[in-house]
Amino acid sequence: MKVIRVHQTGGPEVLRLDEVEVPSPKAGEVLVRVEAAGVNFIDVYFRTGLYPSRELPFPLGQEAAGVVEALGPGVTGLQVGARVAYTGVRGAYAERAVVPAAQLVPVPEDLPSPEAAAAMLQGMTAHYLATTTFPLRPGHTCLVHAAAGGVGGLLCQIAKLRGARVIGTVSTEEKAALARESGADEIIFYTRQDFVAEAKRLTGGEGVDVIYDSVGKTTFLPGLDALKLRGTMVTFGQSSGPVGAVEPALLNQKGSLFLTRPSLHHHIHLPEELRQRSGEVLGWIAAGKLKLRIHRRFPLAEAAEAHRALEGRGTSGKLVLLP
Ligand code: NDP
Repeated sequence: MKVIRVHQTGGPEVLRLDEVEVPSPKAGEVLVRVEAAGVNFIDVYFRTGLYPSRELPFPLGQEAAGVVEALGPGVTGLQVGARVAYTGVRGAYAERAVVPAAQLVPVPEDLPSPEAAAAMLQGMTAHYLATTTFPLRPGHTCLVHAAAGGVGGLLCQIAKLRGARVIGTVSTEEKAALARESGADEIIFYTRQDFVAEAKRLTGGEGVDVIYDSVGKTTFLPGLDALKLRGTMVTFGQSSGPVGAVEPALLNQKGSLFLTRPSLHHHIHLPEELRQRSGEVLGWIAAGKLKLRIHRRFPLAEAAEAHRALEGRGTSGKLVLLP
């Protein structure tokens, strides 16, 4: 079978299409025929070595949807031929993947695999950010950075479903239109406007209740000045580079702020939490309440092109690989 692997960390050119044996599922595992794999920034971080990997070569990709092809010993509750999706297991950029049964969730019948794959990592991230990390409700104003992005577009929609006011930041007019489509009430062009001054102006000088910051290096520190007193900074990504060290005293100086750096992994580690979050997200998508935007589909062999597109800031929505 074909799989994209990294033999040495580096730029997109290090992604290699290798031919390997089809793996056999061990106890508690399932062999999935991958129909679509999602491309995410975390894959870029493993490819570049920002997130270290223990072994070389290693397979890339953290989310996919497909069909159960074989069950390992002791797996119950799943059948060969069932359509499933997952996230958080390495090796999704491949024709087949071995996945622990506990990490598979059922895909609604009328949801195609590219959409199901696209929904898992970014969809459940937007879900936990808006419902668990800082549970939005009517009366709240949130600032969503990169509001036309993969997580950003879904987060705007879930924030609106929960009744919050949404201020979105974007870099271009085209992305502004997409963020508005996702429900952003206000748009700030953070590449040419002072987003702190604008956020203050849009909130009558008070500041926003919460910032969901996926951009990191360029937005984190100024963002602390765009929060209201006792506001919450959720730094969950680093599209522009990692956030540096922060002195706790800074949070006092900026107004008794709350700061958190959450990860999806810790919000789906219990099987019932994974089932609940994925069920809600996939159900909303199947019912048309949450709209996924697949920016582009690439053949598996063109994974490097997909990485270039994601890092090049040219995407607005999800990239998927089709084996
Ligand atoms: P996006 O679709 O948001 O793509 C990144 C966007 O960030 C760009 O389109 C761009 O939007 C903006 N951006 C701002 N500065 C830069 C820059 N210097 N280089 C590139 N892009 C920039 O990606 P995702 O939604 O997939 O992921 C966003 C971040 O969230 C990633 O860092 C990812 O790792 C993280 N993440 C974290 C999770 C968690 O649980 N903690 C889970 C999922 C994702 P614009 O042009 O409008 O500025």
